[in-house]
Amino acid sequence: MSKPEFDKVKRPETIKLPFMLDFYPLEDEKYTRISQFFENLKEGRLTTTKCKRCAKLSWPPRIVCPECLSDELEWVDIGTEGELYAFTEMRLGAPLGFGQDVPFCIGIVKIGGLLISARIDNARYDELKIGDKLKLKIVELEDGRVFYRFKKPS
Ligand SMILES: [Zn+2]
Repeated sequence: MSKPEFDKVKRPETIKLPFMLDFYPLEDEKYTRISQFFENLKEGRLTTTKCKRCAKLSWPPRIVCPECLSDELEWVDIGTEGELYAFTEMRLGAPLGFGQDVPFCIGIVKIGGLLISARIDNARYDELKIGDKLKLKIVELEDGRVFYRFKKPS
């Protein structure tokens, strides 16, 4: 499968981020047992874990089912189109490294039967309303890591 093209995002070059203040997770399998989530994201797929024993769908992805404690989980796609459930706009006090992006919107997106929080790109607060259709947007950092956001369809 060919690699999809994603929008590139930069972390600030003027701030040397201490490890604990890097808000993007370390995605490699040596750092996290949900590295498959990021591998799937690199293919353009937003996924999470579903328990093979009790069918509990979890968000965020887990390594053990929070319902029945089984570790027999499978990766399932949760889709690429969601609906805005709640939102706000970050106007000040953004986390270190995100100051240059202010203002930006963050919200809770209803997708695949889950409610997940994410940044909402390409819209200001006044341009959003609850129930808006949103599309998955995957961004790529300079070091190759990827993360998910949502955007209003153009
Ligand atoms: Zn379970």
